[in-house]
Amino acid sequence: MRHSSVVRLSIICSLIFPGAVPAIALGQAPSRDSTAALLGELIRVNTSNPPGNVRGIAELLAPRFRALGFEVKVLQTADTGKAIIIARLKGDGSKRPVLLAAHADVVGVEREKWSLDPFAGVEKDGHVYGRGAIDFKGGMAVFARAAMMLAERKIPLARDVIFVAEADEEGGGPYSTTWLAREHWADIDAEFALNEGGWIMKGDDGKVRYVSVSTADKASIPLTVTARGTSTHSSMPRPDNAIFALSRALAKISTYETPLTITPETRQFFGALSRTSTAPMSGYLRDVVGADPVRARKADSIVSRDPLLHSLIRNTIAPVIINGGFRANVIPGSAQATINLRMIPGSDPAALVAELTRVVADPSVELSIGSRTFAATPVSPVNTDLYRALEHAAKAQFPGAEVTPYLFQAGTDAGAWRTKNVPVYGIYPYPIDADELTRMHGNDEKVSVASLRQGTEMIYQTLLDVARKP
Ligand SMILES: [Zn+2]
Repeated sequence: MRHSSVVRLSIICSLIFPGAVPAIALGQAPSRDSTAALLGELIRVNTSNPPGNVRGIAELLAPRFRALGFEVKVLQTADTGKAIIIARLKGDGSKRPVLLAAHADVVGVEREKWSLDPFAGVEKDGHVYGRGAIDFKGGMAVFARAAMMLAERKIPLARDVIFVAEADEEGGGPYSTTWLAREHWADIDAEFALNEGGWIMKGDDGKVRYVSVSTADKASIPLTVTARGTSTHSSMPRPDNAIFALSRALAKISTYETPLTITPETRQFFGALSRTSTAPMSGYLRDVVGADPVRARKADSIVSRDPLLHSLIRNTIAPVIINGGFRANVIPGSAQATINLRMIPGSDPAALVAELTRVVADPSVELSIGSRTFAATPVSPVNTDLYRALEHAAKAQFPGAEVTPYLFQAGTDAGAWRTKNVPVYGIYPYPIDADELTRMHGNDEKVSVASLRQGTEMIYQTLLDVARKP
């Protein structure tokens, strides 16, 4: 389509669909799949954080939910770029609401490393490409479509179904779900909720091996390692060089491995993995969470070659930032590194810091997590109607796959509900393979249209099961 008429068409479309740029305006055939089409539109609203302007998402979705009879609130924050949409489909109130939460912001991109425009929402080779395709605009599209289908089909409900597109999950800005819970709890209170978290993993044969539903997240804790020495002229080096001391400390920490720490969810997850694996890996997956410490240690050396599996069975230590020095002729008085600790629920961060201090064994080096207290977030129980409904729908959608609770290795914004004892189940509601998993927060992020379709049906069946009037 000639540039001038594309421009003209985009202007017309932006008048009709504020914030939305339909595929046709970009010379793309509109997707025949409604979830894939919606995902393309969500991707075209660039919500990279920072700055994390998610207002366009609220503007895109609000008229569509309203048109289907949802009660829609758009919460404007003091930041004009950040408005949060809450859409509620009313039930008869005989049961408490069920909530679907999806963060609208995405991480930034290294544009030059993508083979296509990360914000064009291109559908190619049966996949929708773009930043957020997996994390988490794909989930937003699936959740939104599943909720809309309840309205389109006029399903009588016993509980309200609430959809939230929240802000500041990726960037840690001021208007995250912590803010939402503090300022607008009545709008997001529910009996239980779905959010991002567990994986629907395909095996090498393309078949879904397991569906993991996260019931807890590891806690992300920043640890600072500060080495101090004499600040002086670089022509007269001394033994107490802060940069050397920091390097030695980090070298010692790099060879330290934390002990296995297995939660009940992780034991169940590895059991499911073992049952869907072949020997010898099936044995190692069983042993690493087993009672025999010798067999567990042996199995750990094999299983931990997989970074995801390694992160699920222990507290992890990852240096992320290092600073030292400010002039080429000055030996700095201090040098500092930031390490990202990811803690298994119930683990004591102070005990790990004490252990690392013992490992470093250098009085000129201080390790600190500051004075913040890290309250444990309750693990969401699996004996609820929502977990059962999701488990049932997953088994129906993916026959033969194992469905298992799961400890999420990264962080989500589910804590705002969990700390108020509202169970949250995390899922990326579309089958993906190992390659697609690596593209999350990476380049050429994509999700298949077929997976979006299966995910939408699974979540729709889950909502029918948990919310429909008996
Ligand atoms: Zn995410």
